[in-house]
Amino acid sequence: MEVRIAALADRCVKCGLCLPHCPTYRLAATEAESPRGRIAFAQVLAEGKLERTPSILAHLDNCLACMACERVCPSNVQYGELITTTRAWLRGAKSSGAMGWLIAKPRLLGMLLRVANLPVVRGIVRSRAMQGLVRPFGMDRMLAELPRLPQVDAPASRTPAHPRRRVGLFLGCVAASVDRDVHAAAQVLLHALSYEVMLPRDQGCCGALALHDGDAVQANSLGAALRSAFDGTGVDTVLVSASGCFGTLRDHVFADSKLRVREVHEFLYADSGFDTLKFRALPERIAVHTPCTQRNVARADGAIARLLARIPQLQIDALPAPPGCCGAAGDYFLHHSENADALRAQTLDAALAFQPEKLVTSNVGCRIFLGNGLRECAAEVSVIHPLVLLARQLEN
Ligand code: SF4
Ligand code: SF4
Repeated sequence: MEVRIAALADRCVKCGLCLPHCPTYRLAATEAESPRGRIAFAQVLAEGKLERTPSILAHLDNCLACMACERVCPSNVQYGELITTTRAWLRGAKSSGAMGWLIAKPRLLGMLLRVANLPVVRGIVRSRAMQGLVRPFGMDRMLAELPRLPQVDAPASRTPAHPRRRVGLFLGCVAASVDRDVHAAAQVLLHALSYEVMLPRDQGCCGALALHDGDAVQANSLGAALRSAFDGTGVDTVLVSASGCFGTLRDHVFADSKLRVREVHEFLYADSGFDTLKFRALPERIAVHTPCTQRNVARADGAIARLLARIPQLQIDALPAPPGCCGAAGDYFLHHSENADALRAQTLDAALAFQPEKLVTSNVGCRIFLGNGLRECAAEVSVIHPLVLLARQLEN
């Protein structure tokens, strides 16, 4: 691993063009919190020229893995591979702990989330007394940022009588519960375009959180389980509605498979039939947040706005590129509250400046984190996934 890290880092010519695009550099304004600084740290550690210190490890750990630096780098530094390999190397054989164990069990996770969302339990969980009780175990942040479960308002959708093609839909771990409305909406839209949609029951987590944290062993085992869940389904394409999972599915889980991984908005927009669908007018103003993974990994930034533009009378305002990351970044918001809260505040300020009725975002983590932030500041703005809005307005 050390040889690979050093080789990846060696491509960096230290030009600094990535610095203004890095959210942590913009917050801290120090080289150590920049992509160039992190690449230099990874290189000297891998080459054995510097000892690991808590401060160096913290700078590497503070990276959001938003990939804004990779997207703008003129020397094509593969920063994503560099940071995940470095984290895996530094982590060694240490396991992902309770959180890692839980995300590998989406059904149990879903059951716990349902219980935690019962009004009486939710009140207890979010009470000051409970927060104080769990603080010594480092669980207060997790309880404070507990995801809400959605109302599934998409009408039940049926496979068309003569589907023209079969596709798979990835459900995920947290998203299998928190994005149930999104998965229902995706089926409505795909059925309207004459697709049969396969949802293998035994699919689980893509391993993005494990990879993000450097736990390659768990990521590999989750990837293997996911590949076998899609075996025999007869699909040639797996669609992904959570942009945070997309890169892991494309570059890790199905990298050597015949299955193609497509970002669902880009897939829908590329379908010539989408232009024939009719949508009811919605005279509202929405702010569109583009998750880092949608922009920098899926590279499908424009697809969402182009799909939403099909809804008559909808006024669409795209959030400005900086601050970019909203601070959610997988489970980053649970462990780096200071950076995450600062980035969320900047994102919400930018969104609320448009005075929108809704904030639209396409990644499950961003939706949870921004939704909690809006509730905290008592803003009367709901967070919604673009597919849910499209399915709601689709004319039958
Ligand atoms: S990562 Fe790329 S953009 Fe950033 S300093 Fe290195 S070469 Fe320049
Ligand atoms: S991935 Fe994002 S946070 Fe990490 S160094 Fe690159 S731009 Fe900065």
